[in-house]
Amino acid sequence: MRKSLVAGNWKMNGSSASIEELVAGILAGAGSSPADVLVCPPHVYLAQVAAALSGSNVKLGAQDVSVEASGAFTGDVSASMLKEMGCSYVLVGHSERRAIHGESSALVAQKFVAAQNEGLISVLCVGETLEEREAGNTVAVVSEQFEAVLDLAGIDAMKKAVLAYEPVWAIGTGKTASAEQAQEVHAQLRAVAAARSVEVAGGMQILYGGSVKPSNAAELFAMADIDGGLIGGASLQAEDFLGICAAG
Ligand code: PEP
Repeated sequence: MRKSLVAGNWKMNGSSASIEELVAGILAGAGSSPADVLVCPPHVYLAQVAAALSGSNVKLGAQDVSVEASGAFTGDVSASMLKEMGCSYVLVGHSERRAIHGESSALVAQKFVAAQNEGLISVLCVGETLEEREAGNTVAVVSEQFEAVLDLAGIDAMKKAVLAYEPVWAIGTGKTASAEQAQEVHAQLRAVAAARSVEVAGGMQILYGGSVKPSNAAELFAMADIDGGLIGGASLQAEDFLGICAAG
């Protein structure tokens, strides 16, 4: 039986004061969450959030990681730095990184390996654009993104990693994939993993992301291959985020 995970991606939002309030709100209710709870603040607030989460079960993650270990890489943050700040997770390959920062599947795979080498659990994000879906290429696109990582890191790497299916057309748009649409892609992704190891595929958490709200979380999370969610907008309000965690 796979445990659910609900992860909040705060993106580039908040201030020290608003984040203090958000974390306090999440901590007030996270203890009763059936799902594991993860928050991913902007890098500059990691230390603050780590201190606030200390002694709780809420896990800390970052939103991105460098492929490099150290050196002249202005603005980048390494996996060992994230580890030192108390992170146990990191998002890799979020569609905003792929689209806005031009991250290729090959680079994302390198980031995944850099994170794993430091013992961080990657949340590997894959997803198709609306154009790709309408052209009937959803499975081909998400499989290419996933297999780039499997080819570099090997299937066993997914024993200590999480996959997140996030259709780009559903992120921040208010348009959620239906539970059936999401389940179909999740099952395909699990089949891609199963072609390399049935055992690893069976244990692998696959999160759904894209306009998840308290009102639609239960229906999505009830699907056989959906093991929780990656939440953007709704993770910025403690009440909404906890409402989603409660469906986990
Ligand atoms: C995301 O960016 O990972 C995301 C799922 O955003 P939203 O929930 O706002 O659609």
